[in-house]
Amino acid sequence: MTTTASLRSRIVGIDRTVPLLDGTTVPYLNLDNAASTPALRDVLDAVERFLPYYSSVHRGAGFKSRLSTNAYDHAHRIVAAFVGADPDRHTVIFGKNTTEAVNKLSYRLPIPADGVVLTTILEHHSNDLPWRRAAKVVHVGATPEGRLDEADFDRQLAKYGRRVALVTVSGASNVSGFVQPIHRLARKAHAAGARILVDVAQMAPHRAVDMRPQNDPEHLDFVVLSAHKMYAPFGTGALVAPRELFLETAPEYRGGGTVDAVTLDDVIWADTPDREEAGSPNVIGAVALAAAANALLDVGIDVVADHENALVVRALERLARVPGIRIYGETDPSRAREKVGVIPFNLEKVPHALVAAVLGYEGGIGVRHGCFCAHPYVVHLLGLSAGQTATWRAQMARGDKSDMPGLVRASFGCYNTADDVDRLAEMLERVARGDYRGRYRQLSSGEFVPEGHDDDFTAHFALAEDHAAEGPQGERPCGI
Ligand code: PMP
Repeated sequence: MTTTASLRSRIVGIDRTVPLLDGTTVPYLNLDNAASTPALRDVLDAVERFLPYYSSVHRGAGFKSRLSTNAYDHAHRIVAAFVGADPDRHTVIFGKNTTEAVNKLSYRLPIPADGVVLTTILEHHSNDLPWRRAAKVVHVGATPEGRLDEADFDRQLAKYGRRVALVTVSGASNVSGFVQPIHRLARKAHAAGARILVDVAQMAPHRAVDMRPQNDPEHLDFVVLSAHKMYAPFGTGALVAPRELFLETAPEYRGGGTVDAVTLDDVIWADTPDREEAGSPNVIGAVALAAAANALLDVGIDVVADHENALVVRALERLARVPGIRIYGETDPSRAREKVGVIPFNLEKVPHALVAAVLGYEGGIGVRHGCFCAHPYVVHLLGLSAGQTATWRAQMARGDKSDMPGLVRASFGCYNTADDVDRLAEMLERVARGDYRGRYRQLSSGEFVPEGHDDDFTAHFALAEDHAAEGPQGERPCGI
């Protein structure tokens, strides 16, 4: 039986120290798990065990190809089980990430000319922009603290009725962490004759995902996820969807692997998922994702959720004592269960980019800042007026990023600890009282860097040789 404590020791690089501005080193504290998680040792082990056998999949006749094909196909089944999909009804399509998965669906879901995609202002751009190309998109609003405004959802669903082809929501927000009532929304969507896509990129590493059987009115029709947010950063994501959908039309990406037969004027497309995974697939990524799903199931997602909930409670209590802090979204520790471990905040009179820089350069703490690919939602959380938003838009159009609105985001993974929360809080207290040594200047990107400092990465990681200076390969002597 694995526990979250034993998971920590299985995070690759957990004890890696990084340099600070004062010349000392500290163990790196990654509080940017909502962007990407580090790799789990279980995942790396699976990749290392698999690599000696790695070979082409599907049509290779050799033993290693047969083994690789078996592993690749098995990975599809493991991911299906991880999200509670029905192996007979659903297809698992591997691609690069959540963004690619949503785009794929947006190209393949039939939406009538007057059809509507109902989404929310909480969404990551990856679950918004692809739909704007495919249909009229209606954005459901949020309450002032950033929860989905479900009354507005009901209103919009009633207003557009049968025109709503798809409801698409995130399982959990990457900005506020709020967990959406996905199954209740599914029931409402189905009653209106729509289908529902849930972007579980931010939910799958923290809460159980269950698509539920088709005859359950609260089932999920489609889910999308990214392995790099699930401790398996090897370049894979998945779209899980009813197989029939993909058999109705030709794939939007065509080429090797997608066909059964090709003549000069005709194509017989392969079954799914092959027809949807054009070109040579990322077999290593698939193995990694499957290993991560198994590792999370082994610990128990509910165990992970309980552990992370305790971190959120502690963070909301402890960070509230940092002078000048404003926490966005949920601030009441007794309601911590309503969110995953994502805490957005600002410090009074200190730009978000500067807070993040000081945490990084002087605390060895990695956080993200800005708008987190969810501009409308961040604008909402910040309470910017239409005039302020227009000013910001105009500044961006001029390429001026010096005064971008935004937040700082600390986000937890299953391996973070109460000490990590305290370390963040203590460092923020230093920032709040101006107790840092660097003299920071702002770059045109909006980032802050300490004057006179140059990162020396070579002691930590460098690619073995830099051939770039030597020109094209052909100019190097043979055999070197
Ligand atoms: N949706 C959500 C909720 C996310 O948090 C992210 C990543 N931040 C994405 C979609 C996009 O994921 P990816 O970059 O892996 O495509």
